[in-house]
Amino acid sequence: MHSVTGSFVRGIFSGAVHGSLIFPYPDPLDRRDPGEAQRVGRLIDRLREIAHDLVDSSEFDAHETIPEPIVQALAAGGLLGLTIPEAFGGAGLSPSGYARVFGELSRIDASLAVLVGVHCGLGSMALVQYGSPEQQARYLPMLARGETLAAYALTEPETGSDAQNIRTRAELSSDGAAWILNGHKQWIGNGQRAGVIVTFAQTPVERGGDRVSRPTAFIIRPDMPGFKVLGTVQKLGIRGSTQAELLYEDLTVPLDHVLGAVGKGFAVAERVLNGGRLSLAAGCTAGAKHLLHEMTTFAEERVQFGKPIIDFEITQRKMARIAADTYAAD
Ligand SMILES: Cc1cc2nc3c(=O)[nH]c(=O)nc-3n(C[C@H](O)[C@H](O)[C@H](O)COP(=O)(O)OP(=O)(O)OC[C@H]3O[C@@H](n4cnc5c(N)ncnc54)[C@H](O)[C@@H]3O)c2cc1C
Repeated sequence: MHSVTGSFVRGIFSGAVHGSLIFPYPDPLDRRDPGEAQRVGRLIDRLREIAHDLVDSSEFDAHETIPEPIVQALAAGGLLGLTIPEAFGGAGLSPSGYARVFGELSRIDASLAVLVGVHCGLGSMALVQYGSPEQQARYLPMLARGETLAAYALTEPETGSDAQNIRTRAELSSDGAAWILNGHKQWIGNGQRAGVIVTFAQTPVERGGDRVSRPTAFIIRPDMPGFKVLGTVQKLGIRGSTQAELLYEDLTVPLDHVLGAVGKGFAVAERVLNGGRLSLAAGCTAGAKHLLHEMTTFAEERVQFGKPIIDFEITQRKMARIAADTYAAD
């Protein structure tokens, strides 16, 4: 195995498996950082108590929302500050610590995981990674306390994967005192109830002597003039997590609410989303492990043709396949 630098995942796309980038495989969290592992354990215990006392997934689904008392219980348990540094009142978890808690959230209820994931992993994370000291001091403590939820508004009706080409535009006001945003966002998790939203709009910038448009990230709040929630989306799954459609009509954003540099918003969008890829994968894997457990219990108890269905080869094949895939994902 020779030493290489770069990205293991990028290597796979070009047919090269750079093992030296991932081996020796990192120790598990409890060996690497026993203090953090203990904090993660306490957060998971609190989460299980909340789940036991308050979570009713069929109610979330039927009413297409996570009720406010649950958001307040998560806030009181420190579960809305998972990714926010301790200096701002959060838990300051590492990516693997956060992935563990997120896995447990997903096991309990996938809609709950989406609500917390958008708040901690997207909206708050953009401020953790790109906020100025003033922006962080102003917004992170309230987000860590869960006084309000955060959202992340990138997607538009015409622009999903091709996020560099969003159509929402931002122009400086004629007196240069504010940015004026016009555009339409959709699929925005927590968008109808968030108090802090990180959003993206094309701004005019100079590149090599030419005037071009490049995305810029902005922090917006629902009480800024020109902000409207058009409605929420009805879905067939994760119905308790709500995605909103937002309209910006001459939305007036103070200059100090630019997040990062003007014209560098795509880097903000991408880096924040990259962090979410580990936690989403951890959530899916924890959910799959839980379902395998539920399936096994059911297959042992369910009797057909005089036998538990787990005794039939076709059931065993299905379960073996799921167990192998889940193990590989884990
Ligand atoms: C439940 C839910 C929650 C969401 N929450 C948020 C949120 O909080 N904030 C937010 O900003 N957005 C959110 N989104 C939007 C999400 O990020 C977009 O759905 C995603 O970016 C994909 O965009 P799209 O749906 O427009 O699909 P499209 O971009 O139209 O893609 C459609 C299909 O074409 C494929 N495709 C596209 N381009 C290529 C290519 N170059 N090569 C090969 N295949 C391609 C895609 O993989 C996909 O299968 C959410 C979406 C959902 C469903």
